[in-house]
Amino acid sequence: MVFSFFVDALKKQPLLVHGTSPRYYVINGKRKLFCSYEIGSSELFFEHQKIFLHSLGVEKKFLFRVKQVHGNYVYVLKDANISDSKVAHCEADAIITHVSDCPIMVLTADCVPIIIYDPIKHLAGIVHAGRIGTQKQILTKTIEALSREYGSNPKDLIVGMGPAIRGCCYKVDEPCAQPFINKSSSYLEFVKKTEKNKFYLDLPQINRIEGFEAAVLMKNIYTEGPCTSCENYRWYSYRKEGITGRLMTMVMLQPRK
Ligand SMILES: [Zn+2]
Repeated sequence: MVFSFFVDALKKQPLLVHGTSPRYYVINGKRKLFCSYEIGSSELFFEHQKIFLHSLGVEKKFLFRVKQVHGNYVYVLKDANISDSKVAHCEADAIITHVSDCPIMVLTADCVPIIIYDPIKHLAGIVHAGRIGTQKQILTKTIEALSREYGSNPKDLIVGMGPAIRGCCYKVDEPCAQPFINKSSSYLEFVKKTEKNKFYLDLPQINRIEGFEAAVLMKNIYTEGPCTSCENYRWYSYRKEGITGRLMTMVMLQPRK
């Protein structure tokens, strides 16, 4: 049996559905691989999406996603009747919504998928935070958008991160590490220097500190997600594999009674 990834603290929320899809499912004893080079357009992709949703008990045919561009724009999904294809054309790297029964997702392979939940206002957010998006503070922008659009208090938020490339495997050159070193006095928690001019970056850890600096309580930020490169047999890793598939990370609010 192949399992999706869940953040324990989010799993405890009674009116929230979430998860990250594994790289394959076993159907009738056979491995069903999802490996779409044209992301989001192949038949196999939609089949994988259907199996994923079904495994979460969601009998929807669609997931809302945006056109991810490694930026810091946040799409606010307020119209319950908008079509998923219209949303898919909007360039953004995060979605927030108050709409129930409206699954939102990001696609990743090493970048950090981040789920945000406000249990007080009953709001959900999903973020695609790669190195560039993290540098542009996409998580902070999403937390700010929740406050601006819905009056959400960051202290109420629960933030959970899914499978992503971690400090054990994500080796970069100095120009890629320097912006993070410059920005945070606690950079030693997520940047490790190895041989000359090479650095290991831990993207979930960088986002953890960013979330804290955006006023989310440290105890409400969960970064236990596995490393996509170390556990490549379960998750997709662009760094390790080159052309590969994408993991789906989704969150959906269930209606309040
Ligand atoms: Zn690793």
